[in-house]
Amino acid sequence: MPVRRCPKHGYFDGEACDCGREGVGILDDDRRLRISKFLSGVLRHFPDDAGVTLDRNGWGRTVRSSKP
Ligand SMILES: [Zn+2]
Repeated sequence: MPVRRCPKHGYFDGEACDCGREGVGILDDDRRLRISKFLSGVLRHFPDDAGVTLDRNGWGRTVRSSKP
């Protein structure tokens, strides 16, 4: 399912926001799937290789790299 952004309500999954606006495409299905698999791999299997530090409960810090 693609990720889109409504100018009034922000990010949403699917083809239209709940308000009915189509919004602007952010991620298509293929790119979303590839990013999801990469992040799952980082968090579950190779956090050190990606420079991510997790605490003993599996939580890490997030850093926003750009404004929406
Ligand atoms: Zn909306």
